Amino acid sequence: MVILNYQDLREEVIDKSKCFFCGACQSSCPVEAIEIKKEPRLVGNCIDCGNCHYVCPATKTELDPKEIQNYFSAKSKDSSLLKSSQNGGVASTILKKLLERNEIDAALAVGEKNWKPTSEIMTKKEEVIKSAGTKYGVVPLLKKVKEASQHGKTAIAGTPCHIKGARLLKQKGIGNIKYLISVFCMENFDYNCLINKELNKRGLNKDKIEKMGIDSGKLNVEISDKKENIDLSEIENCVREACKYCEDFAGEYSDISIGSVDSEEGYSTILVRTEEGEKVIELAKNDLEKKELDDLKLVKKLSKIKKK
Ligand code: SF4
Ligand code: SF4
Ligand code: SF4
Repeated sequence: MVILNYQDLREEVIDKSKCFFCGACQSSCPVEAIEIKKEPRLVGNCIDCGNCHYVCPATKTELDPKEIQNYFSAKSKDSSLLKSSQNGGVASTILKKLLERNEIDAALAVGEKNWKPTSEIMTKKEEVIKSAGTKYGVVPLLKKVKEASQHGKTAIAGTPCHIKGARLLKQKGIGNIKYLISVFCMENFDYNCLINKELNKRGLNKDKIEKMGIDSGKLNVEISDKKENIDLSEIENCVREACKYCEDFAGEYSDISIGSVDSEEGYSTILVRTEEGEKVIELAKNDLEKKELDDLKLVKKLSKIKKK
Protein backbone atom coordinates (compact mmCIF):
# COMPACT_ATOMS: atom_id res chain seq x y z
CA MET A 1 0.00 0.00 0.00
CA VAL A 2 1.33 3.44 -0.92
CA ILE A 3 1.61 5.75 2.08
CA LEU A 4 0.89 9.36 1.25
CA ASN A 5 2.60 11.93 3.46
CA TYR A 6 2.49 15.64 4.28
CA GLN A 7 4.00 16.58 0.91
CA ASP A 8 1.13 14.78 -0.85
CA LEU A 9 -1.36 16.54 1.43
CA ARG A 10 0.20 19.87 0.55
CA GLU A 11 0.10 19.23 -3.19
CA GLU A 12 -3.38 17.65 -3.27
CA VAL A 13 -5.19 19.83 -0.77
CA ILE A 14 -3.42 22.82 0.75
CA ASP A 15 -1.83 24.28 -2.39
CA LYS A 16 -5.09 23.83 -4.29
CA SER A 17 -7.13 25.89 -1.77
CA LYS A 18 -9.09 22.74 -0.85
CA CYS A 19 -8.16 22.77 2.84
CA PHE A 20 -11.36 22.87 4.93
CA PHE A 21 -9.31 24.13 7.92
CA CYS A 22 -10.62 21.33 10.16
CA GLY A 23 -7.46 20.70 12.20
CA ALA A 24 -7.40 16.89 11.87
CA CYS A 25 -3.95 16.72 10.27
CA GLN A 26 -2.31 18.52 13.20
CA SER A 27 -3.88 16.15 15.74
CA SER A 28 -2.94 13.09 13.72
CA CYS A 29 0.79 13.74 13.55
CA PRO A 30 2.72 11.50 15.98
CA VAL A 31 5.78 13.78 15.93
CA GLU A 32 3.90 17.11 16.10
CA ALA A 33 5.36 18.16 12.78
CA ILE A 34 2.25 20.04 11.62
CA GLU A 35 1.12 23.41 12.89
CA ILE A 36 -2.02 25.16 11.70
CA LYS A 37 -2.07 28.92 11.72
CA LYS A 38 -3.32 30.37 8.44
CA GLU A 39 -2.88 26.91 6.90
CA PRO A 40 -1.32 23.57 7.93
CA ARG A 41 2.48 23.97 7.73
CA LEU A 42 5.30 21.50 8.26
CA VAL A 43 7.29 22.69 11.27
CA GLY A 44 9.14 19.48 12.19
CA ASN A 45 10.60 16.35 10.65
CA CYS A 46 8.00 14.31 8.81
CA ILE A 47 8.50 10.56 9.39
CA ASP A 48 6.21 9.63 6.48
CA CYS A 49 3.63 7.85 8.63
CA GLY A 50 0.77 8.92 6.35
CA ASN A 51 -1.64 9.89 9.15
CA CYS A 52 -2.23 13.48 8.04
CA HIS A 53 -3.16 12.48 4.52
CA TYR A 54 -5.37 9.65 5.79
CA VAL A 55 -7.43 11.73 8.24
CA CYS A 56 -7.89 14.72 5.95
CA PRO A 57 -11.56 15.05 4.93
CA ALA A 58 -10.50 16.72 1.69
CA THR A 59 -8.50 13.73 0.39
CA LYS A 60 -10.01 10.61 -1.13
CA THR A 61 -9.58 8.37 1.93
CA GLU A 62 -12.28 5.71 1.66
CA LEU A 63 -14.97 6.03 4.30
CA ASP A 64 -18.54 4.76 4.13
CA PRO A 65 -21.21 7.32 4.94
CA LYS A 66 -23.62 6.47 7.77
CA GLU A 67 -27.12 5.89 6.43
CA ILE A 68 -30.08 7.70 8.01
CA GLN A 69 -31.88 5.28 10.39
CA ASN A 70 -34.49 7.63 11.77
CA TYR A 71 -35.53 11.28 11.50
CA PHE A 72 -37.83 13.78 13.20
CA SER A 73 -38.18 17.44 14.20
CA ALA A 74 -37.30 18.66 17.67
CA LYS A 75 -36.62 21.64 19.84
CA SER A 76 -35.18 21.97 23.31
CA LYS A 77 -37.45 22.21 26.34
CA ASP A 78 -34.77 24.31 28.05
CA SER A 79 -35.77 27.97 27.78
CA SER A 80 -32.22 29.26 28.35
CA LEU A 81 -30.95 27.23 25.39
CA LEU A 82 -33.91 28.16 23.20
CA LYS A 83 -33.31 31.85 23.78
CA SER A 84 -29.80 31.86 22.35
CA SER A 85 -30.42 29.37 19.55
CA GLN A 86 -32.16 30.04 16.29
CA ASN A 87 -33.28 26.52 15.53
CA GLY A 88 -34.32 24.80 18.68
CA GLY A 89 -31.08 24.43 20.66
CA VAL A 90 -30.95 20.68 20.06
CA ALA A 91 -27.15 20.25 19.79
CA SER A 92 -26.59 22.15 23.05
CA THR A 93 -29.35 20.17 24.78
CA ILE A 94 -27.70 16.91 23.76
CA LEU A 95 -24.20 17.98 24.84
CA LYS A 96 -25.56 19.22 28.16
CA LYS A 97 -27.34 15.93 28.77
CA LEU A 98 -24.28 13.84 27.85
CA LEU A 99 -22.18 15.79 30.36
CA GLU A 100 -24.88 15.62 33.06
CA ARG A 101 -25.14 11.85 32.71
CA ASN A 102 -21.34 11.37 32.62
CA GLU A 103 -21.74 9.79 29.22
CA ILE A 104 -18.89 12.06 28.13
CA ASP A 105 -16.21 13.94 30.04
CA ALA A 106 -15.74 16.72 27.50
CA ALA A 107 -17.47 18.31 24.54
CA LEU A 108 -15.41 19.88 21.78
CA ALA A 109 -17.48 22.39 19.83
CA VAL A 110 -17.37 25.70 18.01
CA GLY A 111 -17.73 28.75 20.24
CA GLU A 112 -17.26 32.41 19.46
CA LYS A 113 -15.70 35.63 20.59
CA ASN A 114 -17.06 38.75 18.89
CA TRP A 115 -18.66 36.33 16.41
CA LYS A 116 -15.21 35.00 15.55
CA PRO A 117 -15.38 31.21 15.80
CA THR A 118 -13.26 29.58 18.49
CA SER A 119 -12.62 25.96 19.48
CA GLU A 120 -14.08 25.29 22.90
CA ILE A 121 -13.54 22.37 25.24
CA MET A 122 -16.46 22.19 27.65
CA THR A 123 -16.53 19.94 30.68
CA LYS A 124 -19.46 21.52 32.55
CA LYS A 125 -23.08 21.92 31.48
CA GLU A 126 -22.92 25.64 32.36
CA GLU A 127 -20.26 26.09 29.67
CA VAL A 128 -22.55 24.47 27.10
CA ILE A 129 -25.40 26.81 28.03
CA LYS A 130 -23.09 29.81 27.76
CA SER A 131 -21.87 28.92 24.28
CA ALA A 132 -25.25 27.84 22.83
CA GLY A 133 -26.30 29.14 19.41
CA THR A 134 -25.08 28.64 15.86
CA LYS A 135 -21.69 30.09 14.97
CA TYR A 136 -20.58 31.09 11.50
CA GLY A 137 -17.02 30.96 10.32
CA VAL A 138 -14.33 28.36 10.03
CA VAL A 139 -12.09 27.11 12.80
CA PRO A 140 -9.60 24.19 13.04
CA LEU A 141 -11.62 22.57 15.83
CA LEU A 142 -9.92 19.18 15.57
CA LYS A 143 -6.56 20.64 16.60
CA LYS A 144 -7.91 20.24 20.13
CA VAL A 145 -8.97 16.59 19.95
CA LYS A 146 -6.08 15.31 22.08
CA GLU A 147 -6.45 18.13 24.62
CA ALA A 148 -10.19 17.44 24.95
CA SER A 149 -9.55 13.70 25.19
CA GLN A 150 -7.29 14.23 28.19
CA HIS A 151 -10.53 14.78 30.13
CA GLY A 152 -11.83 11.39 28.93
CA LYS A 153 -14.65 10.43 26.55
CA THR A 154 -15.29 13.27 24.14
CA ALA A 155 -18.22 14.34 21.96
CA ILE A 156 -17.42 16.52 18.97
CA ALA A 157 -19.98 18.89 17.49
CA GLY A 158 -19.08 20.67 14.27
CA THR A 159 -19.64 21.09 10.57
CA PRO A 160 -19.65 18.06 8.23
CA CYS A 161 -15.96 18.60 7.36
CA HIS A 162 -15.02 18.57 11.06
CA ILE A 163 -17.07 15.45 11.57
CA LYS A 164 -15.57 13.57 8.65
CA GLY A 165 -12.07 14.43 9.92
CA ALA A 166 -13.11 13.35 13.42
CA ARG A 167 -14.54 10.05 12.13
CA LEU A 168 -11.21 9.37 10.40
CA LEU A 169 -9.28 10.27 13.57
CA LYS A 170 -11.54 7.91 15.52
CA GLN A 171 -10.90 5.17 12.99
CA LYS A 172 -7.15 5.68 13.52
CA GLY A 173 -7.63 5.46 17.29
CA ILE A 174 -6.49 9.06 17.83
CA GLY A 175 -8.09 10.77 20.84
CA ASN A 176 -10.97 9.40 22.91
CA ILE A 177 -13.83 10.25 20.57
CA LYS A 178 -17.23 8.92 21.64
CA TYR A 179 -19.96 10.81 19.78
CA LEU A 180 -20.02 12.85 16.57
CA ILE A 181 -22.69 15.49 16.08
CA SER A 182 -22.87 17.45 12.84
CA VAL A 183 -24.77 20.54 11.81
CA PHE A 184 -25.98 20.87 8.23
CA CYS A 185 -23.69 23.11 6.19
CA MET A 186 -24.05 24.37 2.65
CA GLU A 187 -21.14 26.81 2.73
CA ASN A 188 -19.16 28.84 5.19
CA PHE A 189 -17.68 32.30 5.33
CA ASP A 190 -14.41 34.06 5.79
CA TYR A 191 -14.74 35.88 9.13
CA ASN A 192 -13.16 39.19 8.10
CA CYS A 193 -15.12 39.39 4.89
CA LEU A 194 -18.48 38.60 6.50
CA ILE A 195 -18.28 40.33 9.86
CA ASN A 196 -15.88 43.20 9.32
CA LYS A 197 -16.85 44.03 5.75
CA GLU A 198 -20.33 42.92 4.68
CA LEU A 199 -22.16 43.25 8.01
CA ASN A 200 -20.32 46.38 9.00
CA LYS A 201 -21.25 48.20 5.81
CA ARG A 202 -24.92 47.39 6.55
CA GLY A 203 -24.63 49.02 9.96
CA LEU A 204 -24.53 45.66 11.76
CA ASN A 205 -21.64 46.14 14.16
CA LYS A 206 -20.26 42.90 15.56
CA ASP A 207 -20.34 44.21 19.12
CA LYS A 208 -24.09 44.70 18.90
CA ILE A 209 -25.12 41.46 17.16
CA GLU A 210 -27.38 39.41 19.41
CA LYS A 211 -28.34 36.53 17.14
CA MET A 212 -27.28 35.26 13.75
CA GLY A 213 -28.42 32.29 11.71
CA ILE A 214 -29.08 31.00 8.20
CA ASP A 215 -32.56 30.05 7.10
CA SER A 216 -34.28 29.74 3.71
CA GLY A 217 -31.34 31.14 1.77
CA LYS A 218 -30.90 34.16 4.03
CA LEU A 219 -28.49 35.20 6.75
CA ASN A 220 -30.63 36.58 9.57
CA VAL A 221 -28.85 39.03 11.83
CA GLU A 222 -30.41 40.62 14.90
CA ILE A 223 -29.15 43.61 16.85
CA SER A 224 -31.15 45.40 19.53
CA ASP A 225 -33.06 47.80 17.28
CA LYS A 226 -32.70 46.10 13.94
CA LYS A 227 -33.26 42.77 12.21
CA GLU A 228 -31.78 42.22 8.79
CA ASN A 229 -32.27 39.30 6.41
CA ILE A 230 -29.44 39.22 3.89
CA ASP A 231 -29.80 37.14 0.77
CA LEU A 232 -26.91 34.66 0.66
CA SER A 233 -26.21 35.63 -2.95
CA GLU A 234 -25.24 39.11 -1.67
CA ILE A 235 -22.45 37.67 0.49
CA GLU A 236 -21.28 35.00 -1.96
CA ASN A 237 -17.93 36.82 -2.19
CA CYS A 238 -17.22 35.81 1.43
CA VAL A 239 -17.70 32.05 0.89
CA ARG A 240 -14.46 30.13 1.48
CA GLU A 241 -12.94 28.71 -1.68
CA ALA A 242 -12.54 25.26 -0.09
CA CYS A 243 -16.29 25.02 0.62
CA LYS A 244 -16.86 24.89 -3.13
CA TYR A 245 -15.13 21.47 -3.15
CA CYS A 246 -17.08 20.09 -0.18
CA GLU A 247 -19.67 17.41 -0.99
CA ASP A 248 -21.30 16.84 2.39
CA PHE A 249 -24.33 18.91 3.33
CA ALA A 250 -25.95 16.76 6.00
CA GLY A 251 -23.04 15.41 8.06
CA GLU A 252 -22.96 11.97 6.47
CA TYR A 253 -20.26 10.62 8.80
CA SER A 254 -21.89 11.73 12.05
CA ASP A 255 -23.91 9.84 14.66
CA ILE A 256 -26.54 12.57 14.54
CA SER A 257 -26.92 15.50 12.19
CA ILE A 258 -28.96 18.59 12.93
CA GLY A 259 -30.20 21.51 10.85
CA SER A 260 -33.14 23.75 10.19
CA VAL A 261 -34.21 22.65 6.70
CA ASP A 262 -37.45 20.64 6.38
CA SER A 263 -38.60 21.63 9.89
CA GLU A 264 -40.95 24.44 10.88
CA GLU A 265 -39.56 27.64 12.40
CA GLY A 266 -38.05 27.16 15.84
CA TYR A 267 -37.49 23.44 15.31
CA SER A 268 -34.56 21.45 13.93
CA THR A 269 -34.49 18.41 11.71
CA ILE A 270 -32.65 15.56 13.42
CA LEU A 271 -31.12 12.72 11.41
CA VAL A 272 -30.10 9.71 13.48
CA ARG A 273 -27.48 7.66 11.68
CA THR A 274 -25.89 5.18 14.10
CA GLU A 275 -26.52 3.16 17.27
CA GLU A 276 -24.57 5.80 19.19
CA GLY A 277 -26.94 8.40 17.74
CA GLU A 278 -29.98 6.37 18.89
CA LYS A 279 -28.45 6.17 22.37
CA VAL A 280 -27.92 9.92 22.54
CA ILE A 281 -31.53 10.62 21.53
CA GLU A 282 -32.81 8.12 24.09
CA LEU A 283 -30.77 9.86 26.81
CA ALA A 284 -32.02 13.32 25.82
CA LYS A 285 -35.65 12.34 25.09
CA ASN A 286 -37.15 14.09 28.12
CA ASP A 287 -35.32 17.32 27.25
CA LEU A 288 -36.59 17.50 23.69
CA GLU A 289 -40.01 18.32 22.30
CA LYS A 290 -40.32 16.02 19.30
CA LYS A 291 -42.55 16.14 16.22
CA GLU A 292 -42.92 13.74 13.35
CA LEU A 293 -41.50 14.84 10.03
CA ASP A 294 -43.18 13.75 6.79
CA ASP A 295 -40.13 13.71 4.57
CA LEU A 296 -36.63 15.06 4.00
CA LYS A 297 -37.29 16.74 0.68
CA LEU A 298 -34.99 19.71 1.19
CA VAL A 299 -32.23 17.73 2.93
CA LYS A 300 -32.15 15.38 -0.06
CA LYS A 301 -32.26 18.22 -2.58
CA LEU A 302 -29.44 20.20 -0.94
CA SER A 303 -27.33 17.05 -0.44
CA LYS A 304 -27.66 16.35 -4.14
CA ILE A 305 -26.75 19.91 -5.13
CA LYS A 306 -23.64 19.73 -2.92
CA LYS A 307 -22.41 16.56 -4.63
CA LYS A 308 -22.47 18.11 -8.11
S1 SF4 B 1 4.83 12.42 10.33
FE1 SF4 B 1 2.95 11.59 9.46
S2 SF4 B 1 1.33 12.95 10.18
FE2 SF4 B 1 3.28 13.99 10.57
S3 SF4 B 1 3.57 15.27 8.78
FE3 SF4 B 1 4.60 13.35 8.34
S4 SF4 B 1 3.10 12.05 7.26
FE4 SF4 B 1 2.00 13.75 8.23
S1 SF4 C 1 -6.89 17.69 7.64
FE1 SF4 C 1 -8.19 19.50 7.68
S2 SF4 C 1 -6.78 21.19 8.18
FE2 SF4 C 1 -5.52 19.47 7.52
S3 SF4 C 1 -5.24 19.77 5.31
FE3 SF4 C 1 -7.02 18.46 5.54
S4 SF4 C 1 -8.75 19.86 5.56
FE4 SF4 C 1 -6.91 21.08 5.94
S1 SF4 D 1 -19.24 23.74 3.33
FE1 SF4 D 1 -18.13 21.88 3.83
S2 SF4 D 1 -16.00 22.55 3.96
FE2 SF4 D 1 -17.26 24.38 4.13
S3 SF4 D 1 -17.53 24.63 6.33
FE3 SF4 D 1 -19.30 23.51 5.54
S4 SF4 D 1 -18.78 21.37 5.87
FE4 SF4 D 1 -16.88 22.54 6.02
